[in-house]
Amino acid sequence: MNKGLLSVDEALEVLLAGARTVAEIEQVSALEASGRVLARAQASTMDVPPMDNSAMDGYAVRLADVPSPETRLRVGQRIQAGAVGRPLEPGSAARIFTGAPIPQGADAIVMQEFCAADGDAVVVKKVPKPGEWIRRAGSDVRKGDIVLSAGKRLLPQDTGLAASIGIGTLPVYRRVRLGLFFTGDELVMPGDPLPPGRIYNSNRFTLNGMASAFGCEVRDYGIVPDSLDATRGVLRRAAGECDIIVTSGGVSVGDADFVKPAVEAEGSLLMWKIAMKPGRPLAFGRVREAAFIGLPGNPVSSFVTFLLFVRPFLLRTQGIAEVAPRAIEARADFEWPDPDARREFLRVKWNPGGGLDLYPTQDSAVLTSTAWADGLADNPPNHAIRKGDRVRFLPFVELYR
Ligand code: AMP
Ligand code: MG
Repeated sequence: MNKGLLSVDEALEVLLAGARTVAEIEQVSALEASGRVLARAQASTMDVPPMDNSAMDGYAVRLADVPSPETRLRVGQRIQAGAVGRPLEPGSAARIFTGAPIPQGADAIVMQEFCAADGDAVVVKKVPKPGEWIRRAGSDVRKGDIVLSAGKRLLPQDTGLAASIGIGTLPVYRRVRLGLFFTGDELVMPGDPLPPGRIYNSNRFTLNGMASAFGCEVRDYGIVPDSLDATRGVLRRAAGECDIIVTSGGVSVGDADFVKPAVEAEGSLLMWKIAMKPGRPLAFGRVREAAFIGLPGNPVSSFVTFLLFVRPFLLRTQGIAEVAPRAIEARADFEWPDPDARREFLRVKWNPGGGLDLYPTQDSAVLTSTAWADGLADNPPNHAIRKGDRVRFLPFVELYR
């Protein structure tokens, strides 16, 4: 461990210990529940499918009536999806369609491809197997099964599954209100001309987009000048309106860095130098009821530290049970001969050969690397990488879950 530096895991542990799940639960239409976090497990009060039904268009038969191929049976009824047929008379077949209930007495479906209609009869060309093409009641979900567990961010298919057991509304945690502001006298908004010495406020876009991607209600307080009063003022306002305040820049200990004294004046703060690259300084504190996380201003650093620290903290606040990102092992198709003493998060891209390519410059000011990459290679301290080595890969698609 580097002297005076906190490891990523140590910082995460302290951070997560301070995260509280929002208390309020609201009941929302399952149609609007995608992306929300389920607050209570959902058990089924029914079997799915609710009745035995046909998996094919064809004919329902009694096995005993089809002892050999080319058996001719009278077609006594026609059962479409949504209808209920009569019990199947011995010696007869029922014309049946996908999803239609199996008539009482039938024990197999013969696909229409193996049948020839002949007036009011059918010639069954093949002897079916017992139960063939019958979907059994409860084969998908059984009454009493837990179909969705609490603490899960709902995907579209989860809401479909809820609907399949007749659930039209779901209990979800209320959206987390996440406040953002951006420190720096050098910042200018795109659309405005860029005076000498100034830069565009790219972090505003990256951080807004990430907060929205995680389903937050975003409060964006814009650019805050490098002054103690201005920083304290916006902190007070944000603390009254947000669950979490995330800021960019101003957390170094330069003369123009007012975030630290402002949070200390309005609340409490821990300042960390983290043994990681990119993104060293990170601030964590509270201002009244709101949690505060101050990210570095460097665009790559703020992006990476958001994914590594704000993300799990936010997920925990949202009520999500599993906050650790899923990583996979992947092959490095690059050399990294001069590793840093700090744990590195390298911008890498998945190539068509299934390996990882490295963005040529890993400078934390080069935002192009983040747009080019598919994820981060998590490289331990002082660990050189040779071509063909397995590395721990954190794909962005996993970090955005
Ligand atoms: P700071 O953490 O405030 O010392 O800023 C570190 C570096 O990031 C400086 O080069 C800043 O100009 C740059 N920076 C700070 N905030 C932003 C921002 N919102 N968008 C783009 N670059 C920024
Ligand atoms: Mg600054």
